[in-house]
Amino acid sequence: MKIYVETYGCQMNVSDSGKLVRLFRERGWSQTAEPGRADLIVINTCSVREKPELKLFSALGRYIPLKKRRPGLVVAVGGCVAQQWGEKLQERAPGLDIVFGTHQLDRLPELVEAVCREHRPLAETDFKRAPGGLEVAAGPGADGISAMVTIMQGCDNFCSYCIVPYVRGREYSRPSAGIIAEIEELVAAGVKEVMLLGQNVNSYGLKTPGELSFPVLLRRVAAIPGLRRIRFTTSHPKDLSDELIAAFAELDNLCPALHLPLQAGSDAVLERMGRGYTAASYLEKVEKLRRARPGIALTTDIIVGFPGESEADFGETLRLLEEVRYDQIFSFKYSVRPGTRAAAFPDGVPEEEKKERLSRCHHLQDRITAEILAAEVGRRREVLVTGPSRRGGGEWSGRTPENRIVNFPARDLEPAPGDLLSVRITEALKHSLRGKLLMGMEADAV
Ligand code: SAM
Ligand code: SF4
Repeated sequence: MKIYVETYGCQMNVSDSGKLVRLFRERGWSQTAEPGRADLIVINTCSVREKPELKLFSALGRYIPLKKRRPGLVVAVGGCVAQQWGEKLQERAPGLDIVFGTHQLDRLPELVEAVCREHRPLAETDFKRAPGGLEVAAGPGADGISAMVTIMQGCDNFCSYCIVPYVRGREYSRPSAGIIAEIEELVAAGVKEVMLLGQNVNSYGLKTPGELSFPVLLRRVAAIPGLRRIRFTTSHPKDLSDELIAAFAELDNLCPALHLPLQAGSDAVLERMGRGYTAASYLEKVEKLRRARPGIALTTDIIVGFPGESEADFGETLRLLEEVRYDQIFSFKYSVRPGTRAAAFPDGVPEEEKKERLSRCHHLQDRITAEILAAEVGRRREVLVTGPSRRGGGEWSGRTPENRIVNFPARDLEPAPGDLLSVRITEALKHSLRGKLLMGMEADAV
């Protein structure tokens, strides 16, 4: 039996899809990349931005008709759109067998069996206290050396523009014992790098009596022998504590890289977004981070064209980009999410203006990224090999601790994914670096 999974959206969804595949593998299924050969097609949706329904219904329009050619084929939709629409999705898309919500992931195998037995559509979208599926391990990623580990789900922040608290439910921290056991297993299976995942990892454990705080969890994870690199996402700036900042100074295997979503540079816009920090308090934290871990690479999320964002407000966002000098930004046009507070805010910014602001952000960031990458030329970097380069030509690819991609010719060595090699950076490209592998004495110890 074969499962085909199509994933939209963020890392959390990618990790959830990994969990689904794992659940079915444990039952003897295999994964296929061809929907036409599948016995089960799962679409794992995201509704954070844009028009997710359009994309979903167009996919269903392709997959449901396959049932005529493959009797017994089951089609299922999970993730945020499934959570929002519930069984109404099946009214809009007759032939859709299963709708499963964000807390029902672990029940998909059971739902598939029930559909095959009872030949009727099923929809399960209840929220539970502990979301189902959190304890399912997705296992190592495609490269075999890095893995994503979900440590919490849901969010209590209710930023005025954001749908996540409504579709993922309240914040829930997974017990630390399970997290640590999962990472120990991953490391025993050859994983060298983990990415801890949650909507706001900084508040991990704070609402569960007796649970570890996030900085303490990080220390425990960092002490697992053989784990070379730790990353985490996402960090809410308002909850970035001094203790967490200190962990960057203290823990060698905590990578010097942090995704710290700014969203906007104007205090008035931040206030209306309900973010709980000002530009000045954000900058203060950036300064502390840079003192704790000089050279730390920062990335961020930016929303342009939030209701009421004036040209002067937007100018503040550009000013912050110049001041912080992020490695990379993920910038989005504000997109109205029905049911959120901001959906009722006046003074929407015209689409053309949003587009123009987005392109100004990109333009500025391209220059900053180019300058940051150019400054790497000549430096010696420790690179964790991820596999052969996508550019081909016999080159290999890996990432620096700051998460910058480096491609390099292998010289006489046959590197393996998971090797930590010393590379001299020789060239900066638009989004990556090229380097020369250092060997013997020139490599020093890494
Ligand atoms: N929890 C994270 C945080 O607090 O920053 C972010 C999670 S959200 C899934 C990822 C990003 O999507 C946000 O940082 C924000 O920039 C963007 N986003 C969320 N809602 C949006 C909306 N309505 N329109 C445009 N972008 C949005
Ligand atoms: Fe959405 Fe804000 Fe929660 Fe992030 S912190 S998931 S942006 S509500």
